[in-house]
Amino acid sequence: MAVPFRKTSKSKRDKRRTHYKLSIPGMVKCEQCGEMKVAHRVCRVCGTYKGKEVIKQ
Ligand SMILES: [Zn+2]
Repeated sequence: MAVPFRKTSKSKRDKRRTHYKLSIPGMVKCEQCGEMKVAHRVCRVCGTYKGKEVIKQ
């Protein structure tokens, strides 16, 4: 089996890991309550979309 000739440097390793993100793409912060929500969907926490109340609480 082939073995890497050189050890991967900290810089190279960390640059590769910049793609390991915490948040899932397509999730945005709600303008109303600040919770994470699915983009282009009504916020399930406060029931608003584009600043208007859609779901009555
Ligand atoms: Zn909200």
